[in-house]
Amino acid sequence: RKLLLQSLKGLPTVTKSGKHIHLYSNIGSEEDVDSVLENDSEGIGLFRSEFLYLGRDTYPTEEEQFQVYKNVISKMNGKKVIIRTLDIGADKQADYFQIPKEENPAMGFRAIRICLHRPEVFKTQLRAIYRASAYGTASVMFPMIISVAEVKKIKEIVEEVKNELRQADIPFGDVELGIMVETPAAVMIADMLAPEVDFFSIGTNDLTQYTLAIDRQNQSLDDIYDPHHEAVLRMIQRTIECAHAHGAWCGICGELGADMELTRRFIQMGIDELSVSPVFTLELRKKIREAE
Ligand code: PEP
Ligand code: MG
Repeated sequence: RKLLLQSLKGLPTVTKSGKHIHLYSNIGSEEDVDSVLENDSEGIGLFRSEFLYLGRDTYPTEEEQFQVYKNVISKMNGKKVIIRTLDIGADKQADYFQIPKEENPAMGFRAIRICLHRPEVFKTQLRAIYRASAYGTASVMFPMIISVAEVKKIKEIVEEVKNELRQADIPFGDVELGIMVETPAAVMIADMLAPEVDFFSIGTNDLTQYTLAIDRQNQSLDDIYDPHHEAVLRMIQRTIECAHAHGAWCGICGELGADMELTRRFIQMGIDELSVSPVFTLELRKKIREAE
């Protein structure tokens, strides 16, 4: 079976009817890139940047971050790398952020909420990403979005960063902007969000948690935490439709993207991209090539 999968390396990820599904990888550190390349993935659909901020006592500097993003982007040699900005808070805490203790951290001060509240932290990361974008193909996406106002604010800050880089004669590439769709609010206003961005990436881990009101970390609820719930599937369907109606592309980067019982269904829904752990790449390519 392993040998059979190896024979899929180098083959395009197209359905029987000829639709190319972009098959990307999720990574959480620079070291993971070897596995991405080894498994012949077509890009990185989710680079979780939290590791840069965790397990230390101070904010990572622009230079530190730049080196990491640059290394990953360079190693990917022109293939797309989608970097997700900081998604700290909830289950991932760092003391130096000095986030007051919360009753309900999954619904608390986290991710983009922190970034918009502390623009200097956000801008440091964006500058590092934009500088690194000169070395290949980079995109950036933002977690936990719930409103158009957030996206507009983000775009203003991105423009500031680009202007500062231009003024300093620092080169950067064409960077696609996307958002994670992982709250029911984002799904319900997906038609309003889509015109603002180049792409959506559905975070099914959080989307399932918030749709079903079930803590994704609470193992005693595992038997009812059901990402196949019709409510979750309808959210995904709606998100894809709204993206396409407004010229954005739409992928899935939550765990569900690798659920091969649903691959056909996602393709029927019109999904453009699936981003999964590198180890599932070849098996998923096989599944997609067998689908109508
Ligand atoms: C998700 O929520 O589905 C996701 C991909 O992000 P994370 O698992 O990092 O919250
Ligand atoms: Mg998430």
